Amino acid sequence: MRDVSGAAELRGRTTLARSMLMAHEKVSGSCLCGAVRFSVEPPTMFCGHCHCSMCRRNHGAGFVTWFAVARGQFTLDGGRSELATFRSSDHGTRSFCRRCGSSLFCESSRHPEVVDVVLASMHGPIDRLPECHIYFDDRADWVVVSDALPKLGGATGLEPSL
Ligand SMILES: [Zn+2]
Ligand SMILES: [Zn+2]
Repeated sequence: MRDVSGAAELRGRTTLARSMLMAHEKVSGSCLCGAVRFSVEPPTMFCGHCHCSMCRRNHGAGFVTWFAVARGQFTLDGGRSELATFRSSDHGTRSFCRRCGSSLFCESSRHPEVVDVVLASMHGPIDRLPECHIYFDDRADWVVVSDALPKLGGATGLEPSL
């Protein structure tokens, strides 16, 4: 029974992934109130669920699904004056809409050529699905994950330790 439902889920995901691969056009996104608007040009570089405590607290959520895109393929289309930034660590800066509070981007001085974007702020599918869980060792104990994606953790949050 598990195998049957797993196969059906996999077929569904494969169909979705195929339809996303055809979408080479820009995908737009925005905050909740619409003041901050942006767009992303595929291909993106990564997509995963982050379980770190900073993401949880920043979003008020069990975990946060991010994708990474090269800075040159990211465009802020409007609302720059509404975009507030918060320095969340010595290398990380998180951005949010000062009007509605939506958390939108995370940038790191360790990889300045990349912008991390909240997948849930997009208006349509991007070119990939979440690939893994990161900082899984730090997850909230009330979060139950039942998918088959790799669970990465350890000191860097990205080690295949589980
Ligand atoms: Zn807003
Ligand atoms: Zn995180």
